[in-house]
Amino acid sequence: MEEKKIWLSSPHMGGNEFEFVKEAFESNWIAPLGPNVDGFEKDICNFTNVPYTAALSSGTAAIHLALILLKVKAGDEVICSSFTFSATCNPIVYQGATPVFIDSEKETWNMDPNFLEEAIQDRILKGKKPKAIILVHLYGMPAQILEIISIANKYEIPLIEDAAEALGSTFKGQHLGTFGFFGIYSFNGNKIITTSGGGALVSSEKKLIEKARFLATQARDSAPHYQHSEIGYNYRMSNICAGIGRGQMLVLKDRISMRRANYEFYVNQFHNISSIEVLPEPSGDFFSNRWLSCVLFKNYEERERIRLVLAKWNIEARPLWKPMNLQPIFKDMSFYGNYTSENLFNRGLCLPSGSNLSQEDLEKTSSVIIDNLFGNAK
Ligand SMILES: *Cc1c(COP(=O)(O)O)cnc(C)c1O
Repeated sequence: MEEKKIWLSSPHMGGNEFEFVKEAFESNWIAPLGPNVDGFEKDICNFTNVPYTAALSSGTAAIHLALILLKVKAGDEVICSSFTFSATCNPIVYQGATPVFIDSEKETWNMDPNFLEEAIQDRILKGKKPKAIILVHLYGMPAQILEIISIANKYEIPLIEDAAEALGSTFKGQHLGTFGFFGIYSFNGNKIITTSGGGALVSSEKKLIEKARFLATQARDSAPHYQHSEIGYNYRMSNICAGIGRGQMLVLKDRISMRRANYEFYVNQFHNISSIEVLPEPSGDFFSNRWLSCVLFKNYEERERIRLVLAKWNIEARPLWKPMNLQPIFKDMSFYGNYTSENLFNRGLCLPSGSNLSQEDLEKTSSVIIDNLFGNAK
């Protein structure tokens, strides 16, 4: 008999989503605008305390618009976390600009402030001051945000926070995504809440969020006919997707508690095993939504052995993101670091982390790992 699949991170509906979607059908708001879009934007503002939100078709679209609004153009350089998903840096290339990758530090696995400053100084010395910094809060863990903000301010380079994986995470009580000039969230199917697909751009700059909405709806000038003075995009969130989002916002707090409980469960299971490392919050200032629970094994061989055993049991586990400076498409780009993220990639594994996992799923996952580490495998 095939084992029941245990997913890494699957959509988890709260029960009220369909009401909002039904309302959209009944009022015929089947379009990339409507009351759910406005309502979802308000929900995000209320939850994160950010003044302005534009709901968009994806997190990638949100990053792209942030770069456009910061006037990133062909030939520019943009600094970016190397340890991330490719969607963080692809929009840099959409603009004809070049990414400059920064390695991680060990405490949070996010951008190392020392390498950030080294890179900025070196790029300036080489004649090109970076136009923006994209900082990722990976797996929900807050980066060293105060250090990074102070470097960004010192060199007057605007910061974009890629909080695609970090909705609901905070630093000193302030929501990630609200520290930088822009923040972005993703509501893809695998994220902590989902709209099936979607994203948001947030900022305290009202004019820029209004401009984002304008660009995201094909940049139509106000005229009775179709008139355009700028290049537009079809990046707005649909009223149907926003309806799912409004239902998901009702359960977001609960989803965060469940994901944090998953992480705590794994930590307790593995706490006597010296060859497994976890990622604790460095201090009480850091609050992670624990989007994914990740562990580090002794080395690459052990990680691969365990990953394959889990796969045999139909348990989905995935290596950590492969750093961008190691990707074939980005291998010639500048990189500042000491290969911390490469080491994390070699040893790390994301374990099943969904808010809809059962106690049984969690127990099975941890016991397959423990049994196989010590060779008691059945
Ligand atoms: C998911 C993700 C994105 C992209 O979001 P989409 O909504 O899928 O376009 C960007 N950055 C990171 C770190 C992500 O995990």
